[in-house]
Amino acid sequence: MSNLNGKVILITGAAMGLGLAAAEEFAQQGAKLSLVDFNAEALESARQQLLKAHPELELITTLADVSQETAVKKFVDATVQQFRRIDGFYNNAGIEGRQASITEYNVDIFKKVIDINLMGVYYGMRYVIPVMQKQKYGKIVNVASVGGIRGVLNQTPYVASKHAVSGMTKNAALEYGRDGINTNAIAPGAILTPMVAEAFRQIDPVDPKKAEAEYAKANPTKRLGLPVEVAKVVAFLLSEDASYVNGQTIAIDGGQSNVY
Ligand code: NAD
Repeated sequence: MSNLNGKVILITGAAMGLGLAAAEEFAQQGAKLSLVDFNAEALESARQQLLKAHPELELITTLADVSQETAVKKFVDATVQQFRRIDGFYNNAGIEGRQASITEYNVDIFKKVIDINLMGVYYGMRYVIPVMQKQKYGKIVNVASVGGIRGVLNQTPYVASKHAVSGMTKNAALEYGRDGINTNAIAPGAILTPMVAEAFRQIDPVDPKKAEAEYAKANPTKRLGLPVEVAKVVAFLLSEDASYVNGQTIAIDGGQSNVY
């Protein structure tokens, strides 16, 4: 038990990768969880995995796509109905899109990345913030990326959406700090999750492990990050220990953003 004991935390994109690692960490710290994902099978398997490891965990799951505004309102309402409050919101769901230059990018995929990564994060804040305002308390962590503070070759909509996440985070901090709400973002570098494995498959379909090793070479730590290394920082940002951190985008990248 520790800093998140008894806190109600809503996580989007919770069925795998960073979201699932965070759910595991928060459960370990004694939180109650509302998990959202649009992958039904993965969400059910996450639910079973978490309850097996933490039989006492209070947990609800909702199948929803964060790019659908009405669905976002519904899962926020469902969380409040179940737990009466939302202390922390890990606004994490996102996709990478495809690897292509600006002139060759598929416009439909471009719009999909913006709908999920930018509008999804916005809808989440739009419906969670009023709940936190009533409580006069809340902690939000939006998920940007190193691509939210730097350019990343062949990932224009991803980079645009993640810069937007960082920008919206600053604005939420300005607008709602007075209501006892802290809003921050994280900027992970390459963390070994299913999303990043797929990126390496696109970069080198023949030998994705080679692409991964090349990427790690450029990092000061000479390795990729682990999901739990992100989860622990997010747990801190969602806790009272981070009560005077507001409007920041915190890189969790082994120092790589200083190298580019
Ligand atoms: P992942 O693909 O491994 O997991 C993402 C989860 O989000 C999946 O369970 C997926 O089903 C869900 N999801 C995707 N779109 C959704 C939607 N529209 N509605 C509901 N659920 C949805 O990815 P990840 O690596 O864990 O990434 C999580 C977040 O972290 C993303 O926002 C991503 O951009 C960001 N990020 C990841 C890395 C990294 O290295 N892994 C680096 C920087 C930023």
